[in-house]
Amino acid sequence: MANLNLILLGPPGSGKGTQGERLQEDLDLPYYATGDILRAAVKEKTDVGLKAQEFMDRGDLVPDEVLIGIIADRLESGEADHGFILDGFPRTVPQAEALDSKLHELGRSLTGVILIDSSDEEIVRRLSGRRVSVKDGHVYHVEFNPPKVDGICDIDGSELITRDDDKPEVVRHRLVQYHEKTAPLVDFYKQQGLLNRIEGGEPPEKVEESIRKLISTLSLEEGS
Ligand code: AMP
Repeated sequence: MANLNLILLGPPGSGKGTQGERLQEDLDLPYYATGDILRAAVKEKTDVGLKAQEFMDRGDLVPDEVLIGIIADRLESGEADHGFILDGFPRTVPQAEALDSKLHELGRSLTGVILIDSSDEEIVRRLSGRRVSVKDGHVYHVEFNPPKVDGICDIDGSELITRDDDKPEVVRHRLVQYHEKTAPLVDFYKQQGLLNRIEGGEPPEKVEESIRKLISTLSLEEGS
């Protein structure tokens, strides 16, 4: 069987979460969204959550070693042996290097990186309309991807709210962090011949179609 080892890269609010959820359903692969993993840890007040919260509240990145540990655990667990979708990781060059060496250690490699790109202006517009379900964090947008019933999640039935870090001043800080620390990954993966750029400013259905087409052209990792 061929394995799909995929990274979704892009600025906050470019649609990675929406597309990741759709891909996960389609491809039946484990989907690791590090923002969701960290928010769950904060909610449960685990050691990782207690450590991460102050960084997240400010819109700063959580230290690399915390994230590298989280992803290494999942890759070593066996549940991702037939492929995975990473969303929000890696977000720095040291995280990308750690991922490369972990995969190398496991005799594996990345299939491709999908950059869902968007302008800063578009991102501010999107994040101000973004709503997430209180229960499981399913993502909506009041204008581009509304729920069937106003204010209620289609999937888990819980209330839809604005994330604290989607407030305008925190969004601006997250964008600065993205340009400084995460954008260098575009070149990092370009040099490895893994980067595929998708225009994220389109409606979610169009972005999904572009991603699907792209995935069908990727050469898959040979697995067992
Ligand atoms: P997200 O939901 O992907 O926008 O992530 C929300 C927040 O979680 C970010 O603003 C960071 O504080 C933190 N976070 C998520 N993934 C990472 C990562 N790979 N490295 C550092 N911090 C992260």
